[in-house]
Amino acid sequence: MNIVLARSAGFCFGVKRAVNMAFAAAEQAGPICSLGPLIHSPQLVERLQGEGVRVVASVAEMTGDETVIIRSHGIRREEEQQLRQRQLPLVDATCPFVKKAQEYAGLLGEQGYTVVIVGEQEHPEVQGIVSYACSDSVYVVADVAGARQVPSGRRLGLVAQTTQAYENFRAIAMELLGRCKELRVFNTICDATAVRQNEARELAASVDRMLVIGGHNSANTNRLARICSDIQPRTFHIETASEIDPAWLVGAASVGITAGASTPEWIIREVVEKLQQLTK
Ligand code: SF4
Repeated sequence: MNIVLARSAGFCFGVKRAVNMAFAAAEQAGPICSLGPLIHSPQLVERLQGEGVRVVASVAEMTGDETVIIRSHGIRREEEQQLRQRQLPLVDATCPFVKKAQEYAGLLGEQGYTVVIVGEQEHPEVQGIVSYACSDSVYVVADVAGARQVPSGRRLGLVAQTTQAYENFRAIAMELLGRCKELRVFNTICDATAVRQNEARELAASVDRMLVIGGHNSANTNRLARICSDIQPRTFHIETASEIDPAWLVGAASVGITAGASTPEWIIREVVEKLQQLTK
């Protein structure tokens, strides 16, 4: 059986950077905590816990003698202020692309624009960007229908959650253009997501089975799995090699593998090895 691994499967630049920073800090900085899980991979979070990096849900839970690592998605402005007030040592692993989105939202808010953020309201990255806009006039819209709810006739500023699809962003920008006197647009989309999705589409169309590896709580892995199953209905979303059911492979001549941006390399390797064993 032919096993084909997508070239971009696994960690994106921002996640790789955050994970390296966390392991380096664990080695050098003594006790460490992260505000929320560092990335959406329970296995990696567990491994970091083994290295002494504990996860806390709020600044209030921090003991005061720990170094704090900020995850790649970033945190809310109020949380950053609380950390600075408590003078806790910080390792800021916020992805530079997310930082840019926060900064542009801040600039727009400061200059009096109504800030529109294209993204998922509940996502921690979006909540962070909203907080950095420092304005009472902020709207999070998921699609063109949402953009129609933004009051018209004002100066509007637009940024995006980094993982948004460009087409959706563009369609929203076009809708807003007809609803204001001035529209200022910062394209803050990072292409890591689009690259993974395009490769997954191509791969899913050329194999008999598709495995998508990544946290069941990872939005980008779930999206990859949906994209693949629309093309190849025999797509399976797994978190680890132990979830592979040999029955899935019966009659397959080829299996494609991709993985979300927060899936560690060792988990991908274990999946490939398990497939090799099963098809010997
Ligand atoms: S997907 Fe892009 S913005 Fe998000 S962490 Fe990865 S590199 Fe950074």
